[in-house]
Amino acid sequence: MRKIEHIGIAVKDIAAAGMIYEKLLNTTVYKIEAVASEGVKTAFLKSGPNKIELLEPSSVDSPVHKFIEKRGEGIHHIAFDVEDIVAEMERLKKEGFVLLNDQPKEGADNKLVCFLHPKSANGVLIELCQSKF
Ligand code: ZN
Repeated sequence: MRKIEHIGIAVKDIAAAGMIYEKLLNTTVYKIEAVASEGVKTAFLKSGPNKIELLEPSSVDSPVHKFIEKRGEGIHHIAFDVEDIVAEMERLKKEGFVLLNDQPKEGADNKLVCFLHPKSANGVLIELCQSKF
C-alpha cells in the first residue's frame, strides 16, 4: 500500500454532485466515465495530490444503488494505490481478508482494481488500485 489513491463518494446525481465538489475543491471534473461492470457512472476531481471519485448508480441493480438505499449518499470506499495488485491480493487473502474478486478487474481511470469486503475492514469497503501505465 503506497498511498490513498482516491476516496469514492456515492451520489444520486453526478451532475449536481460534480458542481458541488467543483466549488468545494475550486477545480473542475476532469473525467466522466461509465464502468459497466460496477453499474456506475463516475466523475473524477483532483485537488493537489488528492483525488475524489463520485459514483452514481446507473441501474437499480448497482451495488451503489443498494448502498444509497441503505445508508444514503456519502463515503462509499477508500482506494489504496498498490504497486503489484496480484501480490497484494495474495498477501491480504493470507491475512484473512475477504476479497470480492479473485482476479484484478478493469476499474475506472485506467486502473486494475480489487475490492475487499467491508466486513474485513471494520465496515469500510476497501479498493486496491494498480495503475495500468
Ligand atoms: Zn474507486
